[in-house]
Amino acid sequence: MTSYQYQNQQLQLENVNIKEIAEIVNTPFYCYSQESISTAYNGYVEQLKGLDTQVCYALKANSNQAVIKVLADLGAGADVVSEGELRRALAAGIPASKIVYSGVAKTPDEMLFALSKNIFQFNVESENELYVLNEMACSVSKKAAIAFRINPDVDANTHAKISTGMSENKFGIPISRTTEIYRLADSMEGIEVQGIDVHIGSQLTQLIPFDQTFKLIREKVIELATMGIQLKIIDVGGGLGVDYDASNPVIPSKEDYCALLTKHFSDLDCKIILEPGRSLVGNSGLLISRVIYKKRGEERTFIIIDAGMNDLLRPSMYEAHHDILPLTESDNTATYDIVGPICETGDTFARGRKMAELEEGELVAIMSSGAYGAAMSSTYNTRLQVPEVLVNGDQFSIVRERISYEALINQDQLASWQ
Ligand SMILES: *Cc1c(COP(=O)(O)O)cnc(C)c1O
Repeated sequence: MTSYQYQNQQLQLENVNIKEIAEIVNTPFYCYSQESISTAYNGYVEQLKGLDTQVCYALKANSNQAVIKVLADLGAGADVVSEGELRRALAAGIPASKIVYSGVAKTPDEMLFALSKNIFQFNVESENELYVLNEMACSVSKKAAIAFRINPDVDANTHAKISTGMSENKFGIPISRTTEIYRLADSMEGIEVQGIDVHIGSQLTQLIPFDQTFKLIREKVIELATMGIQLKIIDVGGGLGVDYDASNPVIPSKEDYCALLTKHFSDLDCKIILEPGRSLVGNSGLLISRVIYKKRGEERTFIIIDAGMNDLLRPSMYEAHHDILPLTESDNTATYDIVGPICETGDTFARGRKMAELEEGELVAIMSSGAYGAAMSSTYNTRLQVPEVLVNGDQFSIVRERISYEALINQDQLASWQ
């Protein structure tokens, strides 16, 4: 699924020499391969041909309109976690009938907006949310189609900040309360019970937690059926990881993941919803940056680049590894700390990394930055948010411009007494 390669020692994304983009856009910037996103999406569809499924892209991984549109055109639905994301999904052409709405903190106003658009499903995460949703639906004489997000108390074995399926996490309804809550919902005027939902975490590198979770969900679906509650939707969430270190691939194949879905659910007469985010876009994106200074410390050599933790938070937030490649291929190696310009020590992309030798002015690609990169970026240190570029074959197009300093500063205004 690699859409990048060196050609004449220049790093290409699809058929575009990334340096040519840099000359027009300036660094830092994100670029994404449309082909890579399509291949990732079609991988799920292909593997699940025998099952009734809908892939609902988890927008929070990368919510650029152009990226969503690529997936919308392929038939993807969306998993959204806010009114803003719901609006983005609709604006990119994803029909409401393919949108599921997750999240622990849906407000009454957000619910009313989603009800007005007739979305496919609310994934309800608490009893109190259920009461509020029922009230909102009744107030507009509608029925909200729901699934309950069940917390299966399964350890996803991923980074603690992105583990969501253990009883200590804020997400979902404890699995022990499943039948009780379904009975309650079944009696409500404004609620249409249609499914069950689970999402145990992100960047999973093993199949076992999925296997355990799907088995528990299967048992609940069967148990509920014996109570007369016949579910027609099983939403299995997202979470399948991507490889961040090309020299050490660890992620189970999509084929094996999909085989688990078939194993647990193919005989249940339910539609299977998937909510992948990272595994659709993660490996499709690169953050391109320029070496500003090479600084020899007493013990280590720092490569200071013009991208910072405000542009790509993952290394400082999750201690995440990203491969870093020079745009011009080189056989010489050196050991570096790759750091950004932000006034925080956490602004580090790599520590003691043996890699290609770099000089000041050179361009580098921080690989596998398509998910939770631009979407989590900020203007911290009053840095301009990174532009984004979509590549398709030998074409590229700017899909988010770098705004001006004036526009950024003008977002603020003085208080009335100043
Ligand atoms: C974040 C999230 C996803 C997507 O997770 P990935 O690890 O990016 O696949 C799916 N569903 C829910 C509810 C989420 O919060």
